[in-house]
Amino acid sequence: MLRTVLLIFISAAIGLKMSAQEVSFEIATWYGFKEAAVCYTFDDGCANQFTKARPMFDSAGFPMTLFTVTNWASNWSVLKAMAEQGHEIASHAVSHPNFGQISAEQQDNELANSKVIIEEKIGQPCLTHAYPYCVKALDSIISKYYISARGCQGFIENSTPLDYYNVSSIIVGNLGAVKTYTDFKNSFQQAAQKKGWLVFLIHGIDNDGGYSPIPSNELQKSVLYLVPRTPKYWVTTFKAATLYSKERNAARITLISSNDEQYTLNITDSLSDSIYSHPLTLRCVLPSSWPSAVVKQNQQTVFSRIVQRDTAVFIEFDVIPDAGEVVVMKDNTPVVPEVDSIPPDEQDVNTAIELPTQQPLKVIAQNGKLRVSWPANNSYRFWQVIVNDSLGRIVLSRNVYSNNFFEESFQAKKGMYYIQVKNGSLAYRAKLLL
Ligand SMILES: [Zn+2]
Repeated sequence: MLRTVLLIFISAAIGLKMSAQEVSFEIATWYGFKEAAVCYTFDDGCANQFTKARPMFDSAGFPMTLFTVTNWASNWSVLKAMAEQGHEIASHAVSHPNFGQISAEQQDNELANSKVIIEEKIGQPCLTHAYPYCVKALDSIISKYYISARGCQGFIENSTPLDYYNVSSIIVGNLGAVKTYTDFKNSFQQAAQKKGWLVFLIHGIDNDGGYSPIPSNELQKSVLYLVPRTPKYWVTTFKAATLYSKERNAARITLISSNDEQYTLNITDSLSDSIYSHPLTLRCVLPSSWPSAVVKQNQQTVFSRIVQRDTAVFIEFDVIPDAGEVVVMKDNTPVVPEVDSIPPDEQDVNTAIELPTQQPLKVIAQNGKLRVSWPANNSYRFWQVIVNDSLGRIVLSRNVYSNNFFEESFQAKKGMYYIQVKNGSLAYRAKLLL
């Protein structure tokens, strides 16, 4: 579902030429105008989720969602470190009860206490839950503490789930519907067709004793399939997919003014800003008289790119609802529009090739300074350097005039950051763990 808001602003003044700028903004169904959201969720803390899955997901740069039974969790320092890297540590209750067999008061205790314990141990909000045995809790209780909860009905949700407190997932492994790499691939393609939200439920991996084990090489191939296809699939946490879809449905755009040089707009929603602050991706057509564009929200430059999709050229940009006025302005630096290249569905992963380890982008954060360097290229001297945090929020964005180097003072909280250096269709990316 693409929501299109058509806004027309007409201004006229005596003595000035009358100008009428028609502009239409679209909110992406999924972050970055990707076709589907994909969440890998892991239950019960089975051993190989840490020893085998985590390295696969870390090297791909994909976050995992770990639904944790607080009574069973043994290594909170590992979970905390993973949360700081951008993985989601979420609730799977205190003692893994069947919610169909306990009282309302017991349900309340399980749901409230697991949240409190996780927040204390991890130091971040715990916003989502997965029902043990996929048996729902009472809506009136689950909705007091969480923004969404996972069940396992076995289908791929549409872009808006039927019930945020029973989001469907597909069980992976020998007792589930997804047993092989081919099954993973079919699920991805179906999710893209319906612009949907695909959630996998994983327990055991290889022989760690967990329920319905999946062979690690099948899991690994599914991850390697997605790596070159990230312009198509948004591999994200259960929390982020929930936030994005709710914000996208609640957002309202108001055009404040429009002329040949810039558009000024507001994006608002009625959701609680302390929780719902995931950036939404918007786009409008790049006017033919604009060489490129810069986008600011609340006077800070935000992530934007000029991208060609089919024959149209768009300005795509990330903004947070209720976080200040947005200005999309003409920029006279000409850029070549980016074109996302996505391998065809049938092109298989080459398992002989490991994930790329060569990083052309070098990033060093030391003594409060961030130094970024990239291969010198004499034909490009204007670069944009962008640093996102693990939630996709922009923490730094600069236009740089240099052919291979950027340095600036940088004070940031611990965690995972994503660095991008780009110019037109050329982009370098690297991760930074502080
Ligand atoms: Zn469980």
